[in-house]
Parts: sequence; structure tokens; C-alpha cells
Amino acid sequence: MTARCGVFGVAMTSNAPGARASDLPETSAADRVELTALLLDGITDYALVALDPWGRVQAWGRGAERVYGFPGDAMVGERWDRLFLPHDGAAGRPGALLELALRHGRHEEEALRVRRDGSTFWAHAVLTPLRGERGEVRGFAEVARDVTDRREAEQALRRLSDARSAVRARDEFLALAAHELKTPLTALGLNLQAMVRASHRKPAEVVATLAARTERLQRHVDRMSGLVETLLDVGRVASGQLELRIQDGDVAQVAARVASRCVEERGGRCCVDLDAPEPVPGRFDPHRVEQVLFALLDNGLKYGGGGPVQLSVRADGRRARVAVRDQGIGIAPEDQERIFQRFERAAPATQYGGFGFGLWAARQLVKAHGGEIRVRSAPGEGSTFEVLLPLCPKR
Ligand code: ADP
Repeated sequence: MTARCGVFGVAMTSNAPGARASDLPETSAADRVELTALLLDGITDYALVALDPWGRVQAWGRGAERVYGFPGDAMVGERWDRLFLPHDGAAGRPGALLELALRHGRHEEEALRVRRDGSTFWAHAVLTPLRGERGEVRGFAEVARDVTDRREAEQALRRLSDARSAVRARDEFLALAAHELKTPLTALGLNLQAMVRASHRKPAEVVATLAARTERLQRHVDRMSGLVETLLDVGRVASGQLELRIQDGDVAQVAARVASRCVEERGGRCCVDLDAPEPVPGRFDPHRVEQVLFALLDNGLKYGGGGPVQLSVRADGRRARVAVRDQGIGIAPEDQERIFQRFERAAPATQYGGFGFGLWAARQLVKAHGGEIRVRSAPGEGSTFEVLLPLCPKR
């Protein structure tokens, strides 16, 4: 079949495979100009724009009309700054992009652009300098495409994947919580059963050992109450409903209280070296600061390999500096930030129980006081958690 091609006025048959370029008819400069015009007119999926060296529009394709909504006669001669967000324009971004394209030979980006009606869309744009025969800059060409749909689809996928991870984290958390609660509950049940059995056989002995037995029972009850309190805090801290009750207190005293609580909870089978030689008075929420220090000391003992844990408290200007140091399993550098996220854990779950909640809550509580918490650690060499707590927080 033979068809006429308008620009060159030649039959398509000369386009047959095997025809050499030199066999084909010559094209004129006018042909080439017309072809360029047709190119601008024919491509509608991409916005093709030619700029002069100062960023004024010189050619505006049909695709640019479709993508940006401006007709060609409204844009030719105008600065291309009109296609940018007002604050990008004011910050000199259009000029900066030309510079970048000149420096690197091209510039590619995905950024928000503005349509004629003021609405914005995500454009994937490639800007290329156009150089003359001697390398002088004659202008720029930009090819841009509206990629809003693709970005929205990606965002929707990301949200879906975040939601799935949140559900997975919640399920894992519930399983862990049930497991953690079960341990003291089972111990409580076994102790009570033993007491009942003994009361039938040797009532006098049960009466004689009542104080020691109830103390043991109380420890399991305390452990369970602590866990339930933690579960309640998961919701409170996450929804920002946590209220600080700021009052006068002494950080050194709080630390001493936490140290004896930890030792008591372990029935004295652990060692905490408390180094708090002087009072460190300030205004803070003593209950919440106790919770923070307890989480750190409890972790120090749990992950500390059975060795002593140092707890030191000092005043440091207008802040209290509390450090909890253990000589245990340590934390790999890549985990040291992650463990402060909710439900994140780095230690093997088969070996160490826990919710992955303590450090996250501790950081939220310290932040709520205007302070910070950080860790220095290396695997196998122990960890030092440090809390810097303002003594007169701004509220
Ligand atoms: P968990 O209930 O798992 O202990 P945390 O939020 O208190 O939760 O701690 C998060 C993770 O940080 C732990 O699972 C553990 O991997 C790591 N971690 C915390 N403290 C220490 C420590 N002193 N030594 C080693 N690892 C620690």
C-alpha cells in the first residue's frame, strides 16, 4: 500500500526495509522546521517546552497545553516561573533548575507544578540545556509528565503496608502481653495451690511462714499490676493523653526508690550500684520519672548478663543527668535508634521476655519533660542509657 506523507511529500514505499538513507530524498530546512512544529503538536502525553537561556518560553507543545492547561499563546514569551508553586518561584527555584541542568548536562526531578487553574500536580520533568554548534547555550528543553496518579497509587500502597504492619505489631504485642501476664499469674496460682495443700497437711507451718509466703504472692501481684499499668500506658502515651503532674521532687530519691524496687522484685537476687551522693532537686512528675528509670534499670538487669548495674545521678547545670550502665549483651549500632520505637525489640524473644514498649514510653515521657534519652552500646560490651532531665521544665 502506498501512502503520502505530508511533510516530505514522498511515498511511504521508499521507506521499505533495506532502503539506504542516501537513496532517500533530501529534506530541506523548511521540512525540518515543520517536523519540529508537528512534533510539538503531535506529542500530547508529555509537556514539551523550549525555553530561551533566561527561562522564557519559546515553544509550547500541545502536550504542555493539555498538562498545564495554558494555551500556547498565553505562555510563549512568558517566564516559565508561572508553572511553579508561588513559594518555589519566590525562592528562585526555576532559575536554580536551569543552573543545575547546565552544571550536570541535565536535571531530572519529581516536583509539584501548577496548572492554569491554580491546581497542583506532581510532574516528572527532565530539563536539558540546548547548545549551539560552538557549545553556546541557546536555551533549554523540558519534557514533563503528570505522574500524580502513580504517586497517589504509591502512597495508597504505602499507607496500606503501614496499616498492615501496625496490625501485625498489635497482634504480636497482644500475644506478648498475654504471655507476660501469664507468667506471674501461673506463679501466683501455683503458690496459692501449694498453700492450700500445706494448710490441710501442716496448718501450723503455713501460719508460721505466712509472712514470707504472702510477700512472695505480693511480688507476683505487683508484677501483674505493673504489666496492666504498662498496657494502659500503651494507649495513653500513643493518644497523647498522658498528663504530667509536675511537682517538687528529688531525682536522687526517685532513683533510690527505683533501685530498691528492682532489687525487691527480684527477691534480692541482683545487684544495683547506686551512685547518687547528693540530692538533685527539681520540678518534674515523680511518678513518670520513676517509670522511666525503672524501665532502664529493669532492662539493665534483664539484659545485663547477671552482672551488677550502675545507676548514677548527678546535677548537671539546670538538668539532672541519670546514667544506667550494664555489662550485658549490648546493642548493635543499627538497632540503637530502632529500639526506641514502639514494639521494637532487638534481643531474641525466646530468651528475653518483654513488650518492646518500655524504651518508647521512656523516650515519650522524657520528651514530655523537655529532656532527652540516648544510648551508648556495643554488642557484648554492655550498654549505657543516659537521661538528661530539665530540673525546671518550661510548661
Ligand atoms: P522490652 O520489653 O523488649 O525490654 P524495651 O522497649 O524496654 O522493651 O526495649 C526494647 C529493646 O531494646 C529490647 O527488646 C532489647 O532488645 C533492647 N534493650 C533495651 N535495653 C537494653 C540493654 N540494657 N541491653 C541490651 N539491649 C537492650
